[in-house]
Amino acid sequence: MSTIKQKIEELRKQINKYSYEYYVLDQPTIEDREFDSLLKELEDLEKQYPEYFSPDSPTQRVGGEINKDFKQVTHRFPMLSLSNTYNKEEISDFVSRAQQTLGEKDLEWVCELKYDGLAISLLYENGRLIRAATRGNGEMGDDVTANVKTIRSVPLSLQGEGYPQEFEIRGEVIYPHKAFEEFNKKRVENGEEPFANCRNAASGSLKLQDPKQVAKRKLDCFLYFLIGEEISESTHYQRLLKAREWGFKTGNFFSIAHNINEISDFINYWDKERFSLPFDIDGVVIKLNEVKYWNTLGFTAKSPRWATAYKFKAEQAFAKLQNIEYQVGRTGVITPVAEFEPVHLGGTIVKRATLHNADQMELLDLCKGDTLVIEKGGEIIPKIVETKHDTNTEQERIHFISNCPVCGAKLVKEEEQAGWFCPNYNHCPPQILGRFQHFISKKAMNIESLGGEKMRYLLNSNKVRDFASLYDLRKEDIMGVYFSEEGKKISIQEKGAQNIINAIEESKKVPFERVLYALGIRYVGEVGAKNIAQHFEQIENIENASMEDLLNIEDVGQIIAKSIYLWFRKEENLAQIEKLKQKGLQFCVKKEEKNNILQGKTFVISGSFQTFSRDEIKKAIEQNGGKNVSSLSSKTNYLICGEKMGPEKKRKAESLNIQMITEEDFIRMIEQ
Ligand code: NAD
Repeated sequence: MSTIKQKIEELRKQINKYSYEYYVLDQPTIEDREFDSLLKELEDLEKQYPEYFSPDSPTQRVGGEINKDFKQVTHRFPMLSLSNTYNKEEISDFVSRAQQTLGEKDLEWVCELKYDGLAISLLYENGRLIRAATRGNGEMGDDVTANVKTIRSVPLSLQGEGYPQEFEIRGEVIYPHKAFEEFNKKRVENGEEPFANCRNAASGSLKLQDPKQVAKRKLDCFLYFLIGEEISESTHYQRLLKAREWGFKTGNFFSIAHNINEISDFINYWDKERFSLPFDIDGVVIKLNEVKYWNTLGFTAKSPRWATAYKFKAEQAFAKLQNIEYQVGRTGVITPVAEFEPVHLGGTIVKRATLHNADQMELLDLCKGDTLVIEKGGEIIPKIVETKHDTNTEQERIHFISNCPVCGAKLVKEEEQAGWFCPNYNHCPPQILGRFQHFISKKAMNIESLGGEKMRYLLNSNKVRDFASLYDLRKEDIMGVYFSEEGKKISIQEKGAQNIINAIEESKKVPFERVLYALGIRYVGEVGAKNIAQHFEQIENIENASMEDLLNIEDVGQIIAKSIYLWFRKEENLAQIEKLKQKGLQFCVKKEEKNNILQGKTFVISGSFQTFSRDEIKKAIEQNGGKNVSSLSSKTNYLICGEKMGPEKKRKAESLNIQMITEEDFIRMIEQ
């Protein structure tokens, strides 16, 4: 294969992977700017070598995906993306191109904010919202009507008059900063990973299956594009004003520009002022005002030629490195955090940024007295992208520590892991506190009323020594006034103390899989704990399991198996389990919770189904004792084939000799 062709294919593969992480998992692993430059590189190569054109190339498709957990709907008009640039000259070229094609110099442009959220299409009939859909792959999207109805700024019925009987309006669902920060704070308190930024959180929220949960997220929605055959207004600007009259939130920030200078002024103004907005924007959108010209200019495969986006560069700040703090996590992993002179960045003052691990620190080549280059793009979390050495002085290189900063134990590096660990499992204070904070977190024992700070107090005052001793606490042990690490006064009165005692008592009903997760075995997350609990059914079986037995569990590889195996070889852990059993915690799967007809059988589901939603079918498998896994392997027993099942899955199932069954076969199986 030619090297150019290889390069093109490599780029397509890379871009598809990043798009999947961004659009489907809502967990981007690279910066938008890096992503955009890969896409640009591919576009340039494809232009230069048209013989390698492919309709499947990410340059020819709108980036999103459809999500099989929702009903799919076909958009009446394709929902495209926007061409974008970080370069003002290209905006000028865009304007000139339109002027030339239309043979018209005096064009009007509407400049708008580019809201950084998730595109949404709303259909209205007779003034009522009848459907809300995501962009999906541009042709088909997910029907998220129930979720969108929970967004207060989306009118369920319109006000005013003169709206067409049927029309579509498009906009962006966003997560306002304040609501996002509150929500992320709660996630951290509950031991969950915070979302990286507002866009990911908005997108993740709209994909939730339970509208009640979506309502709690306090999303918002700006509308910016009215389409339909019966709309009488002939300019985009008038249409926005009309939409506002009918009750849509259009924002107050769009304005008309008559030339590139006025467009530039709008861009420059918002590049500076963006941080004063209570929500994220990632640029400015420029649209041709006169709608009659839209058809003349038309579309490329993925974007209109009458609109484009100017994207803002991530803001950078420079600050002198002051110190490196080493934090010790609950599993003993050490995370270096750079502390620097406070600087204004992205509307807030930042003074710390994580350095992730020793390898990252090495890469940055940190020295004492360095100036750090800190960036905060769309991301809420600042990151250090570069360091600048002081060329006039001899600087001392900073090396990762070799001993635990709290207990002094010699650090160890685990095979195949980037991090260093403090091995002093039993006596290192932050590890102990971290384990307790994990134990009481919502997804574990759910003793929420006993927050992390109160836990610290109980440990420091020796009122709690191990997990079991939590169950001996009396009201009097908890009541009192004390101070958090930051010096905040915390006072617990009788009522608060009683609530905590009640929550502790209630936690005895928490099912086995969550108790197993609460024990905090390294690498055993929520899903892993569930699989293991379902497989072994009671703790004694896990205790007695060999490495081979553990490796037989779906999704359990060498690292997890070894961690579990070694955890159950420690006397103190076994003693802890005995004590917790005596306190009445659940250490086996309750028989009445499931029917065992599918015991020991592993299922993969593919496509969509008639009787069940995908979540319901997964639940039915588990309730009947079976296990769901996401991908096919030689350990899978059945593939349940739904409509529009991917051909790749089918081929793989055939090659692995996995029995393929229909939804009806499955229903018969569980009805037996
Ligand atoms: P986009 O976000 O660059 O622009 C198009 C979108 O802008 C529209 O679909 C709409 O949702 C939104 N928009 C906001 N305000 C608007 C307004 N006033 N008028 C019209 N549209 C408005 O394009 P995209 O296709 O959604 O996503 C591509 C972008 O996503 C890339 O530029 C890239 O930065 C990012 N991305 C990043 C990664 C990553 O891994 N970091 C991966 C994939 C995509």
